[in-house]
Amino acid sequence: MSRGPARRHTLSRRGWLRGLAATGAGSALPLVGCEASRPAAVAPDPILPVPPGTRVAIVGAGLAGLTTARELARRGAEVTVFEARDRVGGRTLNLDIGHGHVVECGGEWIGPGQERIAALAREVRVATYPSFYDGDTTYDIEGHVSRGFLPDLTARDAADFVAAAWKLDRASRRLPLGDPWRAPDADRLDRITLAEWLTAEHHSSFTHAVFKLITRATISGHPEHVSLLWWLDLLRSAGGLLPMILNDGGAQDLRFEGGSQLVSIRCADALGERVHRSSPVLRITDLPGEPLRVHLRDGLVEVDRVVVAMMPADALRIRFEPALPDDKQALLAGWARLPRVPFVKLAVVYATPFWRKRGLNGAMQSDQSPIQLVFDNSPADASLGVVSCFLAINEAPVFADAATRQARVVDELARYFGDEARAPIGYVEKDWATDPWSTGCVTPLAPGLLTRAGPAIRRPTGRIHWAGSETSDVWIGYMDGAVRSGERAAREVAESLRSPRVAGEPLVQP
Ligand SMILES: Cc1cc2nc3c(=O)[nH]c(=O)nc-3n(C[C@H](O)[C@H](O)[C@H](O)COP(=O)(O)OP(=O)(O)OC[C@H]3O[C@@H](n4cnc5c(N)ncnc54)[C@H](O)[C@@H]3O)c2cc1C
Repeated sequence: MSRGPARRHTLSRRGWLRGLAATGAGSALPLVGCEASRPAAVAPDPILPVPPGTRVAIVGAGLAGLTTARELARRGAEVTVFEARDRVGGRTLNLDIGHGHVVECGGEWIGPGQERIAALAREVRVATYPSFYDGDTTYDIEGHVSRGFLPDLTARDAADFVAAAWKLDRASRRLPLGDPWRAPDADRLDRITLAEWLTAEHHSSFTHAVFKLITRATISGHPEHVSLLWWLDLLRSAGGLLPMILNDGGAQDLRFEGGSQLVSIRCADALGERVHRSSPVLRITDLPGEPLRVHLRDGLVEVDRVVVAMMPADALRIRFEPALPDDKQALLAGWARLPRVPFVKLAVVYATPFWRKRGLNGAMQSDQSPIQLVFDNSPADASLGVVSCFLAINEAPVFADAATRQARVVDELARYFGDEARAPIGYVEKDWATDPWSTGCVTPLAPGLLTRAGPAIRRPTGRIHWAGSETSDVWIGYMDGAVRSGERAAREVAESLRSPRVAGEPLVQP
């Protein structure tokens, strides 16, 4: 991993949070201590070979599916990957910005504790470099635009936010990793939303505003819709709130040279003809006494196992025969139903990162602007200036018009970074809300589902196994979670094939 020159840590989101932690009564609360609760690294299991001639179909060539395929191929299986799109990488997407550079308009950053994606990247020779955060972050919170710090932040507000964050972290640490439904108070936690908890605990409007920003940024969700238990499970899976929301030193710490999608592209290159693009799977039949069949537009394949590796809501597009068990179906439907922020991730390209010479780090966070999050995504050599924005188009219908969007985004950037922002040399975007194969960015869960159907997240259904970042117990919703889920699914398939009880018989579960 290339770390580049030593970094000068100026005030970034971490600075802001540490600033909050140090303000007033909040300084007594060990918010930063949550880093200690990071889940232990999962060492890959020893390789368990599969019986010769075992055929496994993997549905989806995102990081989860490609990892499953690599791991099973390594164990001796004959793997075939079916990918609906004409490209691999799923929710990671590199877009060309010219001058020999790409920018990510999907999953992008990794950070400490995300060892499995880091290891995979090393294996396929994709290097990392530090994201750029030197300088002041711009904030636009509750109508006040400021640089570096929140001018109107009172000690009371700061303490209130720190207290909320600390209580949530503490509650998350009590959940059994991967099985939150087994927590003694799981029912109570799964009955309410994060917003209801914030209100019940009398937290300030500032704390509500910050959690609104955090849930949008991390799960493209709303505190009013997300189950408190699911939110705590997410924190648990990441080792706490800080590891998730910090920029430098947290989940936004490092970028990939050549863009994150390059990891998937290299994995697919290594798998060669085993990866079939533009091949959506329409139907999977797992009937007693019959071969397991995967139905495509122009035929079918018969295999020993299938791994469905995608966002759970996306699996609803596949017809399963027999129908999936009720709890699994309820989960998939619940995931698909939950309102999410329809994000466009876009990048505006400039001749130079002009904001840097003014002491700005190019980051902006707002609970007001339709461009809620902005990051400096310039190439490592700063030969271009690139700002990437997460645009919530539902909140400003004028931004919904793709033809005028660029001009409106540029106006918005000029508000925060000055008139130089009005001279872009390039623009690229990806609208995830209208993507036919990914139902949004990340999928949170509503109250009631984890306790009712949680174990169905990962449990195999017959000869069908389930991967995808949302099925991970560590770094749920992140690229690291996707890789871990693929490793777990491959182990599970190998184990199921070696079990004499399971081997020769149809495995349709009641
Ligand atoms: C805008 C955005 C920003 C993000 N930022 C970050 C970040 O900075 N860091 C981070 O770690 N994560 C980030 N993520 C999340 C991260 O990208 C995902 O968690 C991860 O890529 C998911 O991988 P996956 O393999 O589980 O699923 P996917 O990448 O969704 O892969 C599933 C694949 O299945 C295919 N598929 C769907 N249906 C079918 C079918 N019927 N037949 C065949 N194929 C099918 C899809 O086309 C897709 O290729 C971000 C995501 C988005 C969208």
